[in-house]
Amino acid sequence: MSVSAVRAAVLATAMLGVGACATSENPNRSLVIASLEARSGSAVGGQLRISRNGKKIHLRATVTGLEPGSEHGFHIHDKGDCSAPDAASAGGHFNPGGSAHGRFGDAVHHGGDLPSLRADAKGVARADVDLSALQWEGAQGIKGRAIIVHGKPDDFTTQPSGNAGPRVACAVIG
Ligand code: ZN
Repeated sequence: MSVSAVRAAVLATAMLGVGACATSENPNRSLVIASLEARSGSAVGGQLRISRNGKKIHLRATVTGLEPGSEHGFHIHDKGDCSAPDAASAGGHFNPGGSAHGRFGDAVHHGGDLPSLRADAKGVARADVDLSALQWEGAQGIKGRAIIVHGKPDDFTTQPSGNAGPRVACAVIG
């Protein structure tokens, strides 16, 4: 076997290895990790971790730079676009069911309405939310949309936004 033939054989083996690795990934499992970017002149940041296993979807978030003890509206928004300085580019609340705005867990709420964030004494809030009622991707899915932290509490009543004030941080689920 010539040197070039050996090289070709080694390369083919390496490529097969890569292929085997790709096919062994579970297509029903996904993980998105995203950083929250400050908007509207805030110093809010943090990290999101959204995992999917089949139909189960779980969100974990750590949000920093909040006023200690403060409460903040927290939603998935329709468009995965955080580009505007006030994050208006993310559109309204993600609303795959055509519902009214409301409280997570109540009978009527947007699919994108999440439990409000509450900051601890250090201005850090943590979220741990089961999103299995939502879909992962496609026209009704959360992938490619945005998650927004608002500057004020959500009143769960005012339509269609909950009157939660400026958008102080934004991350794209992608
Ligand atoms: Zn809403």
